[in-house]
Amino acid sequence: MPGYFAKTEQHRRQVLKALLWITLSGGLFFSVVNLLHDNWLLAGLEIAYAGVSLYLLNIIDRTRNLQLLTAIYLLPFFSIMIVALAQTTTTFAVFAWIQTIPIICYLLLGLRLGMYGSILFVGIGLFVFSRRFSSDELLANVEIVANLGLSSLAVMIFAHIYERSRLLNEKHLTEQATTDALTGLPNRLKLAEVFERERAHALRSGKPLALVFIDIDHFKQINDRFGHDVGDRALAHFAKVLAQRLRINDLFCRLGGEEFAVLLPGSTAWQARDIAESLRERLAAQPLSVDDSPLQMTLSAGVACFGVDGQSLDELMLAADRRTYAAKRAGRNRVISRENMQPALG
Ligand code: GH3
Ligand code: MG
Ligand code: MG
Repeated sequence: MPGYFAKTEQHRRQVLKALLWITLSGGLFFSVVNLLHDNWLLAGLEIAYAGVSLYLLNIIDRTRNLQLLTAIYLLPFFSIMIVALAQTTTTFAVFAWIQTIPIICYLLLGLRLGMYGSILFVGIGLFVFSRRFSSDELLANVEIVANLGLSSLAVMIFAHIYERSRLLNEKHLTEQATTDALTGLPNRLKLAEVFERERAHALRSGKPLALVFIDIDHFKQINDRFGHDVGDRALAHFAKVLAQRLRINDLFCRLGGEEFAVLLPGSTAWQARDIAESLRERLAAQPLSVDDSPLQMTLSAGVACFGVDGQSLDELMLAADRRTYAAKRAGRNRVISRENMQPALG
């Protein structure tokens, strides 16, 4: 679904925005504090970083490469944090910021990069901490580092679990939104997504791309004669029988009702017509069994080709739909493409 990554990106854009506002205001505030402590290095870094945050806030809604922007932001952000930790003039409380590292990493970078970023920067932070506050009293040292380390680890584990289940839920919802519940086939949304990809591929490679529109003949009669449940079974049977004939790269989807489409990457009009013909024959050869009697179904189909019949999915659908309608008028149970349009109508 085109919206999948867009939604994740939108979510990350919001988190990054919030963080930019925090660094802008926090940077300005702490630069004043550090100036009062005569810590010019840190104050300078914080002012510069507040400026960077302000700039990024201005471009964040326009940027296409959010991941790059995030990396540009996070690397210096964590580096300044480490510099602040290492400075002898800063307070002990600066270490509270270590615990924000896993949350920031997971929310902005996702599961894998989030984990690497957390381990790296929390690890460096803890190392700096232990160097700065090591004393002769070993037990006290161990206690302090263990507290900070374990609490950071706990935050990291929570963030990891949360991001993992969010990702799984999002995947599950995306699958649901692009799948037809009755037949298990992809739906119109998925067709639109795959068409864009295949269209770009066809333009790059010069390979053909065909679309077949399929409508079951007299389907209403099946419902009227046997009831809606048998109608549903007939649709599922239809989907199963036709899907068996198609290649892995072909996209067979249910558009709605008793209308289906097949996107055939790499197929010319002739090849697409042959495939549609073989689907028609296969359906005739494998009727659904209703009360131990065969229920014959037939289909009418129209073929359209990318480039010849149009450039967009809407244009191809329109051409293929028109040809399906022509097949209906010509007596149903047939396939019509641009090449056999005239004879079939005649
Ligand atoms: P034609 O040969 O001209 O295509 O005739 P038809 O009867 O197939 O076409 P029509 O569009 O008149 O009827 C389509 C029927 O498909 C009407 C509707 O009740 C039925 N239908 C649509 N969706 C479903 C569904 O999910 N389940 C069942 N059982 N029937 C459905
Ligand atoms: Mg119809
Ligand atoms: Mg029909």
